[in-house]
Amino acid sequence: MRLLGAKTYKNYIGGEWVEAASGETFESVSPADGKTIGVFPRSAPEDVDRAVEAAKAAYEEWRLVPAPKRGEVLFRFAQLLVEHKDELTDLMTHEMGKVRAEAGGDVQEAIDMSYYMAGEGRRLFGQTTPSELRDKFNMSVRMPIGVVGVITPWNFPIAIPSWKVAPALVCGNTVVFKPATDTPALGERFVELLEEAGLPPGVINIVHGGGGAVGDRLVRHPDVPVITLTGSRETGVEVLKAAADNLKHVHLELGGKNAIIVMDDADVELAAEGILWSAFGTSGQRCTAASRVIVHRGVYDALQSKLVSDAEKMRLGPGWEEDTDVGPVINKPALEKIDSYTGIGKDEGAKLLTGGEVASGNGLDRGFYYRPTIFGDVEPGMRIAQEEIFGPTTALIPVDSIDEAIRVANGVMYGLSSSIFTRDVNKAFRAMRDLDTGITYINAGTIGAEVHLPFGGTKDTGNGHREAGQAALDVFTEWKSIYVDYSGKLQKAQIDNAS
Ligand code: NAD
Repeated sequence: MRLLGAKTYKNYIGGEWVEAASGETFESVSPADGKTIGVFPRSAPEDVDRAVEAAKAAYEEWRLVPAPKRGEVLFRFAQLLVEHKDELTDLMTHEMGKVRAEAGGDVQEAIDMSYYMAGEGRRLFGQTTPSELRDKFNMSVRMPIGVVGVITPWNFPIAIPSWKVAPALVCGNTVVFKPATDTPALGERFVELLEEAGLPPGVINIVHGGGGAVGDRLVRHPDVPVITLTGSRETGVEVLKAAADNLKHVHLELGGKNAIIVMDDADVELAAEGILWSAFGTSGQRCTAASRVIVHRGVYDALQSKLVSDAEKMRLGPGWEEDTDVGPVINKPALEKIDSYTGIGKDEGAKLLTGGEVASGNGLDRGFYYRPTIFGDVEPGMRIAQEEIFGPTTALIPVDSIDEAIRVANGVMYGLSSSIFTRDVNKAFRAMRDLDTGITYINAGTIGAEVHLPFGGTKDTGNGHREAGQAALDVFTEWKSIYVDYSGKLQKAQIDNAS
């Protein structure tokens, strides 16, 4: 693979590839086999300041580039992603650890999003409305805002940056991007391809480094009016507080504790397939992962035995091996956290049905592998049924009715994704209306969003914004209302003309 072998990478600021001012570095290491992927600048606040300065200068010209032309750059970017899809997929299996099919899907989402937002360059619709007065024209238009700080997690290292950067750019903003320190090589390739697509210097900048030094400076910088962050709830709260003094626009996409409901009339085979995919795909490290399965007692035993026997057949290994079903988790602290939740589940009295241990042997010791884990007889209030574990662990919760199922599904702090397996159209519509989440699937798992619909969640999953689709434009633009009076005289609106 081209990028393996401890290559030294740089920040990209104002169209130049530069080291951190301090000269300090950090390594990105593969969670699959412990090999070094590359060496990256460990940046500090002063590097962020330089990037913001470059982005601020570039904004004055970029905002005036016609939106369809901005869209054309994204179109070329999408084409470059297509051309480099194999290389990026391969790199993702090494740096992040996903299996190849999922890594390819991650890149494909960025392709889809970039094409979609390229088209948005010819829309960016506002409204025209009649005026209250004669010879007057009213309209609303979307205006860019300025420098956008983009802070991303490691679990969708190409897709998530695209969900933020593509709409930010087509709307006429410039960007300072801080990728996660676990997946910096993918962040860097993302920016290299944007550069190759023809973005002018300063329009996209990347600054590598940690949340404390780089992310926090971005969040507090007075010349960055918009922050878009995908990460954990805890980080979201910190970011929101840090941005408050500057009254920034803060867009947060945070954690999940997503549930799949399986009713007694469901196709149990289909449900089991959807659950395994949603619970153990990406080793459970998706914000939309199904970490709870709420099962009607009528099918509980059948579903449980099917899930356990299928989970035990899943093969763990590096993502680049074709027969791997489940890749590694991202790093050692994640492995330890996941394992600690197995202990918590057992202590709480849940029944460990399968998994519940670090996987070893056959070279797995070189990476961070955890066996697909299923708990049975879980009570809705247990910590394993309430807290985001972000690993291959799911909890089966028995219930007696659709009412109880919906109540249990809604009884958590998060509200990202939900799903119901049922053949009863009435129950399906109840679920669509009553599940308090930003996304609901019927007869499918909790994962698999498409880029042209809004993506995000209710309650503590975010702060009311949405990513993707038209909704994303609201994060990256301000509305301006414009009144054009062509009467040639001063017409007084907001005056009571009736009298
Ligand atoms: P994280 O919160 O640890 O880090 C996310 C990013 O924020 C990283 O780039 C990190 O360096 C940065 N950061 C950390 N502290 C910061 C601070 N004080 N100021 C500014 N930046 C800071 O999350 P993670 O472990 O990378 O990702 C996993 C989390 O992301 C999970 O909770 C998952 O549910 C969530 N997630 C949510 C969505 C969604 O769309 N809702 C999608 C993917 C992941």
